[in-house]
Amino acid sequence: MAAFKAIVINKTESGTAVALTDFDEAGLMEGDVTLRPEWSTVNYKDGLAVTGKAPVVRRFPMIAGVDAAAVVEASSHPAWKPGDKVLVNGWGCGETHLGMYAEKARVKGDWLVALPPGLTSRDAMAIGTAGYTAMLCVMALERAGIGPDRGPVIVTGAVGGVGSVAVALLAKLGYQVTASTGRPAEGGYLRDLGATEVIARVDLTGPARPLGKERWAGGIDTVGSTTLANVLSMTRYGGAVAACGLAGGMDLPTSVAPFILRGVSLLGIESVMAPLALRKQAWQRLATELDRHKLAKMIEEIDLGGVVAAGKKIIEGGVRGRLVVKIR
Ligand code: NDP
Repeated sequence: MAAFKAIVINKTESGTAVALTDFDEAGLMEGDVTLRPEWSTVNYKDGLAVTGKAPVVRRFPMIAGVDAAAVVEASSHPAWKPGDKVLVNGWGCGETHLGMYAEKARVKGDWLVALPPGLTSRDAMAIGTAGYTAMLCVMALERAGIGPDRGPVIVTGAVGGVGSVAVALLAKLGYQVTASTGRPAEGGYLRDLGATEVIARVDLTGPARPLGKERWAGGIDTVGSTTLANVLSMTRYGGAVAACGLAGGMDLPTSVAPFILRGVSLLGIESVMAPLALRKQAWQRLATELDRHKLAKMIEEIDLGGVVAAGKKIIEGGVRGRLVVKIR
């Protein structure tokens, strides 16, 4: 039986073990489209999966990797034919369904989005779930009426993947962007992406007051915990904050004050099960609205052999921008 290279996670007595190894094609799960992933990426969740730091993997053995830009190898789905270039993000890949750090994958055709015109497979994975989530956050702010005319917006965890793409997108759309980071040495990087102000992570990590000084019309928070609580307390009357992350913790020690005294909205962002229409819109906009020169500044390229070390690094908060993984 044919085998292909993959990053495989197995259960052990003490937790999980991960290795780049051969995976038997007969072990692929059900699906109506067989893919040849060409590029993938390392997201925070991939880091959690390969390190075993949080129980994101729900089936063993699991092939890690939540994202791919791939070529259709075989399909019985009416929308796809061999040779089509497609994107997969989420839908449980790398969690409940065998994932994308692999030379071969099998998925449901209903999960796929066509690679948008004007975007290469490599650039699509340089964006990856992190960048697509940043766009979902931007779109949520827009739906809440937070346009550039409403005032400055803040991005937390700004040097990370979601944060970097969010800063670049918001700046391109004309927002005045404050970037919050624990890495002051990356101030120049964040200004190059379009931030007009860079503030220290510690400014937002102490216990939040119910209401603070009104500073931002909106925000994109990738950190959670006291950071999100502080952002909410400093959001201007009628503002909105898109919350997508938990890099600083899953708790949210806040009060109802920002909501009931300032009419602030907290917008929840979920990328894994997001409906196809929203995904298509997000990818279309990323293809046209994300500055490629800025994207290029965010990228480091690795291969499958580098994924496990990269997963550890992202969990330690040590990755700047985006990691793109060359599979073939
Ligand atoms: P990254 O690791 O690339 O970025 C996270 C950033 O958060 C870091 O770069 C760092 O930014 C900051 N950070 C890390 N640790 C801490 C800490 N202890 N306290 C405060 N800030 C911290 O990850 P991603 O950008 O890929 O993902 C960001 C978050 O978004 C993750 O929690 C991830 O799970 C979540 N996510 C959620 C999705 C959804 O569907 N809701 C989809 C994609 C991601 P800096 O150095 O600038 O301070």
